[in-house]
Amino acid sequence: MTAEDKKQLYTFLTTVEDWINGYKNASQDVQFADDIDLSRGFASLGEIAEQVASCKACRLSLNRSLAVPGEGPAGTERIQVVVIGEGPGADEDASGRPFVGKAGQLLDKMLAAISLSRSENCFIANIVKCRPPQNREPSPDEAATCLPFLEAQIALANPLLILALGRTAAQTLLGTPEGITMLRGRFYDYRGIPVLPTYHPSALLRDEALKRPAWEDLKLFRAELDRLISGDR
Ligand code: SF4
Repeated sequence: MTAEDKKQLYTFLTTVEDWINGYKNASQDVQFADDIDLSRGFASLGEIAEQVASCKACRLSLNRSLAVPGEGPAGTERIQVVVIGEGPGADEDASGRPFVGKAGQLLDKMLAAISLSRSENCFIANIVKCRPPQNREPSPDEAATCLPFLEAQIALANPLLILALGRTAAQTLLGTPEGITMLRGRFYDYRGIPVLPTYHPSALLRDEALKRPAWEDLKLFRAELDRLISGDR
């Protein structure tokens, strides 16, 4: 399929979906991924954040207040851990920062329990950088369009480990249709970096019973991180 064919198909599908979802600005122009080069190299996480802030590569740009590029420690040192969620919610959309609502507060506690924090050793990002309407899941084409930003962030952070929060993050990163209950609790490979899928903090807020297996995952994650740090990979 040529780039023009893809653009026409995308336009058709998004027109139908926008109509279904009632986008308030559905007629507004979207700058297609083919028109902006998401695959080019980025020099820094800050440069990625700048491009994300003005990105219009998919329809999620139409209703966002602020794009949410991601957040981590300042400086250019290697970042030990990248934590990946699904997409921004209302609080994140309003603030431009990832995981700042109730789920974010729980995530900070979970990370603190294994001596990790976004100010010191974790970069926190999402599969899509703009809020999906009504907090729906990002569609596969939205996730695919935004993914080059995350790929570039991971490449620059060069983490020892990745923690994938929830089904969307795990499936998108690992390219698998398996559910999170099947995926969690084991490490997988993403471009040479071990990835541990676990439950999203929002799921833990909905279902107390998931907290115990999530804690087991976090302990496993910390043990592997300690092993890699001591082995100076
Ligand atoms: Fe761009 Fe990603 Fe936002 Fe879509 S979700 S507009 S690809 S930053």
